[in-house]
Amino acid sequence: MAFVDHDLHIHSYLSPCAGPEGVTQTADNILAYAVKNGFNTICVTDHFWDETVRGAEGTWYEKQNYAWISSILPLPQDENVRFLFGCETDMDKNNVIGLSPENYGKFDFIVIPTNHLHLSGFTCRGDEDVRERAALWCSRLDSLLEQDLPFYKVGVAHLTDTGIMGGRGYLEALSIISDEDYIRLFRKASRRGVGIELNFNWLKTNDDDMEIHLRPYRIAKEEGCKFYLGSDAHALHIFEGMRENFTKISVLLGLEDKDKFII
Ligand SMILES: [Zn+2]
Ligand SMILES: [Zn+2]
Repeated sequence: MAFVDHDLHIHSYLSPCAGPEGVTQTADNILAYAVKNGFNTICVTDHFWDETVRGAEGTWYEKQNYAWISSILPLPQDENVRFLFGCETDMDKNNVIGLSPENYGKFDFIVIPTNHLHLSGFTCRGDEDVRERAALWCSRLDSLLEQDLPFYKVGVAHLTDTGIMGGRGYLEALSIISDEDYIRLFRKASRRGVGIELNFNWLKTNDDDMEIHLRPYRIAKEEGCKFYLGSDAHALHIFEGMRENFTKISVLLGLEDKDKFII
């Protein structure tokens, strides 16, 4: 499976949500995961909010500045693996992105989530119902695609994950969104050249729920979007079975080399 040769969304011990287990999430251990699985490109993408952009004062993002996340550099390399340096920034409730243009050049790859809606008060009010969350899914992605970003090295993170809404809310919200809205947004994404991330743990998802995940990605593929795989791993045990998961995702979507987002 030629598509499964990379993982472009990985957290190190420098992301606070890695928790106590995160201490083993070192650059060397991440590289070892890539070597073991035969990947040729990986990217470390720790949580980041640029200290030159206002909006994160008083939040946990304040500590996630450039000095902190770049302390992992230089990254170890392997003759068969490109180990890239990136970040996962965020978009606040005013659709401000936590990365200023003068710092785009510091990163090989920039992951931007539009659905970190579990960060109540920061990315959204927090009390929205499922219809409002579905509307936010659309409007925030639309806003991202309108911005002046280096899309050739930008990926939209985990578009179908639980950050949209807790419980089964995220699945309900994704089901509410019409084909027409998905088509409109992914057509724009394709034109802008942004990467679409695939990362949900589909090994543990039943067939009905999987269809909910697959619908937007099938439409994205139809519209010509390019995709990349991202484990979003914060701890070493998440890497186990990831190649199998990536393979299942790529087979279900019929992804080939031509569909790959390449940095
Ligand atoms: Zn995320
Ligand atoms: Zn992440």
